[in-house]
Amino acid sequence: MQNEPEVTVVRLGHRPGRDERMTTHVGLTARALGADRVVLPDNAGKSRDTIADITDRFGGPFSVECSGSQKALIRNWEGRVVHLTMYGERIQDVEADVRAASTDAPLLVVVGAEKVSFDVYEAADWNVGVTNQPHSEVAGLAVFLDRLFEGRELEREWEGAEQRVIPKATGKRVESVDEG
Ligand code: SAM
Repeated sequence: MQNEPEVTVVRLGHRPGRDERMTTHVGLTARALGADRVVLPDNAGKSRDTIADITDRFGGPFSVECSGSQKALIRNWEGRVVHLTMYGERIQDVEADVRAASTDAPLLVVVGAEKVSFDVYEAADWNVGVTNQPHSEVAGLAVFLDRLFEGRELEREWEGAEQRVIPKATGKRVESVDEG
């Protein structure tokens, strides 16, 4: 998002079939709530295509890619790393520090699928719990991004969209966006 911390979300692990919707929703949630990019595992090509298609239709900028080296991305990240985990520090206790650190360094937000190995906990600058209860990477990511941007992501403008939803109290209205 323009004039906001630069945020990349990395999805660790993907079980084809079982995780298809979850991985797609991690990407769609990252896009809708203000992140700039999502990096999915190599075997999540279907989710990547769905997220790219939504971005083409509903706008960006947002980039999605697959990578076989998520762990290296985390290890070598030139910026700060947040790992979302139910075992982490309470978001309400660390969000101000994360926000302050993200103004001048790109932020990598790590979410898991199945068990996350301990090296990820060690590589993170913050292990952050959105509550210390088990729930989902999609819910954790949504609350985290909203706290990071303090709600400003809800006002963002979208570029290059083919269609736009017109908010309505009742019913559905979608308009084509004219170029130029
Ligand atoms: N059981 C796995 C483990 O012990 O690592 C976690 C599985 S959980 C379904 C998948 C992901 O959801 C986690 O890796 C984490 O990123 C996210 N998640 C679940 N509960 C969370 C919480 N309370 N706060 C932040 N993230 C959470």
